[in-house]
Amino acid sequence: MSGRVINFGAGPSALPEAVLEETAKGLLNFRNTGIGIAEISHRSKEFTAYLEETQALIREQLDVPPTHHILFTQGGATGQFSAIILNMLARHRLLHPELTADERTMDYVITGSWSKAAAKEAERLGGARVNTAVDARPYSKDGKTFDNIPLHSAYSFSEDPALIYYCENETVNGVQFSHDDAAPESFPYHLLPKNTLLPLVADYSSSFMSRPIPHLGEHAIVYAGAQKNVGPAGLTIVIVRQDCIVDVDAAAKLGASPVPLAMSYKNLFEGKSMPNTPPVLAIYMSGLVLKRNRDLGGLQYYEESNRIKKEKVYGVLKKGEEVGLFKGHVKEGSGSWMNIVFNVIGEGKEAEFLKGAEAKGLTGLKGHRSMGGVRVSLYNAITVEQTEKLVEYMKEFLAANES
Ligand code: PLP
Repeated sequence: MSGRVINFGAGPSALPEAVLEETAKGLLNFRNTGIGIAEISHRSKEFTAYLEETQALIREQLDVPPTHHILFTQGGATGQFSAIILNMLARHRLLHPELTADERTMDYVITGSWSKAAAKEAERLGGARVNTAVDARPYSKDGKTFDNIPLHSAYSFSEDPALIYYCENETVNGVQFSHDDAAPESFPYHLLPKNTLLPLVADYSSSFMSRPIPHLGEHAIVYAGAQKNVGPAGLTIVIVRQDCIVDVDAAAKLGASPVPLAMSYKNLFEGKSMPNTPPVLAIYMSGLVLKRNRDLGGLQYYEESNRIKKEKVYGVLKKGEEVGLFKGHVKEGSGSWMNIVFNVIGEGKEAEFLKGAEAKGLTGLKGHRSMGGVRVSLYNAITVEQTEKLVEYMKEFLAANES
């Protein structure tokens, strides 16, 4: 398609061109109904079947166990910051009605801006004490930034918390947990309270569908906004274990905070992910992406291509570090596969780097406003070939600046 650039933006981000072309057809005529996808009733048999197929594609590709339901909702990841707290506190209230707010805890693992924001919402909503299970900043290179996954010895979890929260990939800071259980940068599952129904919650917004989810069955909730790897903004995917879909009104009668209907997992579940109008177009496009993923070979395909992509970028980053032109933000071992954050050293060099990239049609590389620098987002829709174009440019920039 002419006029398109390579978009390394952090989200909303690039979608496969084949999906965009298919969307154009569906906008005119969805499944031979003669009605466009943005116009058709969400209660039509064609759309309800489509929604179920899309959920099934997630279940199949992520190998979601039968104990877990896949719910679609709106409100983004930020909506889930609140929904998780309200539903999990209602669950805890039903399990332990005798406890006061001071005797309840919510554990937060804070490794970057997004988990910090989620913990702030927990403080704001109240209903339990917020325990910082770990804060990564004291373990950073300068003692105050998010640039690492802390060692397991740094964590301290509560005995019976209402929830244990972490963000698998910190989009802003470029920090991600390792999926190798033996690595010091892995999530310390072995340190969690011994509870067969762990209240473990993970924000997978910027890594969902980029590789398999380890220990998925041990999670109470895994959730993601669609707008990085799956589709356009508007759809939020929540994988919830059965025991976390609770009667929030019964919990409210026992003193828990009332849960707005749009945030109640029970309401969403009973309404089959559309107790009210769902984000029809976002679901449609996400379904097209997921079908394409399956045809390409599912998560094995993406895990491999994402591994190749990140190795190429980290490789050239390392070369730049050796000559003092680039400086990676994140400590070795904690680097994200999806978002690679670095600085270009030297007066005016960063602006020059970004300008040169734009001129080559490599866009969306400016770091988050809170971080500055450069951020390369390598979501699924970015191909190995497109990544190579960026790497080529980084090499040229290095060569031009080597003295
Ligand atoms: N969590 C992570 C890891 C994110 O990357 C983002 C957004 O980029 C959010 C949460 C917030 O998402 P939303 O804008 O959908 O509320």
